Amino acid sequence: MVFECPRGVRDFGPERMGVRRHVEDSIGKVFSSFGYRQVGTPTFEFVELFEAKSGPEIMQHLYVFEDKGGRRLCLRPEATASVARMYASELRSLPKPLRLSYSGPMFRYEEPQKGRYREFWQAGVELFGAKGPQADSEAITLVFTCLEQLGLRFRLRISHIGVLRTLLSAQGFDEAGTDKIIQLLDKGDMKSVREKVKDSSFMKLMELSGSADVIKEAASIVAEEKVKELLSELSEVLALLDSAGVGYEVDFGMARGLDYYTGIVFDARAEGLGAQDQICGGGRYDDLVELFGGPATPAVGFAFGIDRIIEAMTGQGVEAPGRVTDVYVASASEAVRPQAFRIAVQLRKSNSALTIDHDISGRRLNRALQHASEQKARFAVIVGERELAKDSVVLKDMASQKQEEVRIKDLAERLA
Ligand code: AMP
Repeated sequence: MVFECPRGVRDFGPERMGVRRHVEDSIGKVFSSFGYRQVGTPTFEFVELFEAKSGPEIMQHLYVFEDKGGRRLCLRPEATASVARMYASELRSLPKPLRLSYSGPMFRYEEPQKGRYREFWQAGVELFGAKGPQADSEAITLVFTCLEQLGLRFRLRISHIGVLRTLLSAQGFDEAGTDKIIQLLDKGDMKSVREKVKDSSFMKLMELSGSADVIKEAASIVAEEKVKELLSELSEVLALLDSAGVGYEVDFGMARGLDYYTGIVFDARAEGLGAQDQICGGGRYDDLVELFGGPATPAVGFAFGIDRIIEAMTGQGVEAPGRVTDVYVASASEAVRPQAFRIAVQLRKSNSALTIDHDISGRRLNRALQHASEQKARFAVIVGERELAKDSVVLKDMASQKQEEVRIKDLAERLA
């Protein structure tokens, strides 16, 4: 009997997992270089955590179940709510701004297709206790730096939910009505937005996109003082991004469906992914921590979709180094196998960054070397009786096929 995975979830063999590790590690290193420290949150939570503010898009795709104690739980569809909950209950007294990151599987009961899975991976950050252009531009620069580092071609779009909310409220829409319109915008359903919002300046604004210059145009379209203030804040963010060489496009017609966003929002789209091309989404959410019982705390964050980033890399032909074997230790005869074993153990001890494979299948030397080249080993260390008598081994460069005798005590240094 052959078992298959449930729909929408996947196995990852060693090759694919190697690429995933590379992407996660590369993003994790950039997060850490910006001072973000990783936190962990549970994979299942109380349903209420998401009912509070995540919006219908998330709620209708939730994996809900009852545990044996009759509690209503769900698999987490995203991590921002969990990290905000943890901040409100445990981390609120830590010095601010507090920079946190996370990475792990998320679950949404969606119709599986290319780039859309029921279990998928996100890596993201949340920056608590800082507001204003400096904090917003840091988050956006972080997105840009991570994707640039991976070698991807992408477009970064920036909008401002605060601007949309203020305008819609001036039009007489209550919070629920405003949320609905923002969700329609997120889906790109302009026709329904036009039917609901009759105001022509709002629609004009929705069609504005381009460089920082469009802010002036936007300010000339809207009359509300509050909006003008938000726009001037936005232009400060854009000036900081320009000075850091971060490429972006302002697009007022872009909105994010999650109800908790209050200010700047942004996303990144990768070339060549088709319909599911959004590889990152985020924004400012200044009310969520308070909603979870914490003190009023401004916050901004985003999440990368790891699966889509990997698909985009493949589609764009970006090299992702899979796992390689650095050194393959082979024995020239049966008699030296114990010494070969010892040399492999010592090498791993002296340099834990190296991947050291050691022949444990009793292969003859030529077979072992063939295996080394299948493993794409950079070097083979050949342990033979004649060299051992001189406390040496043969080091073979697998690409050039050149070999030389190296003293065992110098081997680790030679391979560093
Ligand atoms: P969101 O939490 O909806 O803002 O999503 C953030 C990112 O996660 C998106 O930009 C996608 O790259 C990724 N993502 C969301 N849903 C899925 C899914 N069902 N399958 C794969 N990736 C997803």
